Amino acid sequence: MSKTLSVNAGSSSLKWQLYEMPEEKVIAKGMFERIGLKDSIVTVKFDGKKEEQIFDVPNHVEAVERLLEDFKRLHILSDLTEITGVGHRVVAGGELFKTSTLITPEVLEEIKALSNLAPLHNPANAQGIEAFMKLLPDATAVAVFDTAFHTTMPEKAFRYPLPNKYYDEFQVRKYGAHGTSHMYVSQEAAKLLGKPLEATKIITCHIGNGASITAVAGGKSIDTSMGFTPLGGIMMGTRSGELDPSVFPYLMANDPTLKTAQDVVDMMNQKSGLTGISEISSDMRDIRDGRANGNKKAILAFEMYCDRIKKYIGQYLAVMNGADAIVFTAGIGENAEYMRAGVLEGLSWFGIELDQEKNNTPGAIEISTQNSRVKVFVIPTDEELVIARDVEALKK
Ligand code: ADP
Repeated sequence: MSKTLSVNAGSSSLKWQLYEMPEEKVIAKGMFERIGLKDSIVTVKFDGKKEEQIFDVPNHVEAVERLLEDFKRLHILSDLTEITGVGHRVVAGGELFKTSTLITPEVLEEIKALSNLAPLHNPANAQGIEAFMKLLPDATAVAVFDTAFHTTMPEKAFRYPLPNKYYDEFQVRKYGAHGTSHMYVSQEAAKLLGKPLEATKIITCHIGNGASITAVAGGKSIDTSMGFTPLGGIMMGTRSGELDPSVFPYLMANDPTLKTAQDVVDMMNQKSGLTGISEISSDMRDIRDGRANGNKKAILAFEMYCDRIKKYIGQYLAVMNGADAIVFTAGIGENAEYMRAGVLEGLSWFGIELDQEKNNTPGAIEISTQNSRVKVFVIPTDEELVIARDVEALKK
């Protein structure tokens, strides 16, 4: 029996989950938060217990050293050689990486070079990879790309109608994100539908703090809402989603606090979306409470949020000539029944009918009525498991 670690390294965090493979049993999981800051938070969940410690973790290499020590200290492993594979989530794989890939020094360099497509994420992903390769040199290291699932999009969907040279010379196109999640929940939905994946048409809504919607036909992504970067598509917790680009120069000319294009992009990434409109929070639970208290800005933020998701569902129903199922997943998609109801209200003409009682039942998976032509599912996503499976498939 061998163990595989799924790793998701962010700029100041490192989330991990340890699996017994091929049984797919989660042995332990945890995370490091506030890496590089004072008072980092280190959490380990194991054997029904949770340990939380606060101390300074200056960088990713020390986080990994500490994690490997904890595996022995807590008797999670008797020897580190039990870990035979480590899978890393990598945000941007560009056009190069169409599937999960064994990490060689060349692949690591490519991941770093793709940082221009994900300036916050890829450098952090690379740091996580380097730290594990140094400390567990014999384990199979695999990169699992968020963009890989979307590399099946046809050119008519992934191209922007700009002069060709911007694609040919600068690779400006739609790449999408959350691919691992869209792939996993669409495969689970096909099982629930009792149909071969190849014969399904599914619209997957990954609605977390970041959010994207994908049209999955025959198990392949054929269009997705996020674009060149995760700023594209629907309104999110702090991101605007798409808007008329003429707003950029207009704001720079008129708002003295926005001096550069980067200032505008930062505002659209960090201060917009639910945060920008509600002026309360990016967290859907705070928006829910604001609406309950009659706060007009929270009400508008919620209405705009549902409106954007509804319109993307409409687009993808058109692109695929209907759908067998719509899937909701991630933090908001799995937990905010009022958001699901707001999005699916008034879609009966399309054959979509929500069962209000099932929708309000925590843990319910199928939430459409018996007669609904399009099934509606809530499927918890499990990107870590996909990563562990891909490592298993590529193990030496
Ligand atoms: P990400 O991975 O993009 O950070 P998640 O998928 O973990 O996001 O989703 C986080 C978001 O989910 C939070 O910002 C919050 O808005 C929402 N969320 C989490 N739990 C709940 C809940 N019980 N009810 C409503 N929304 C929730």
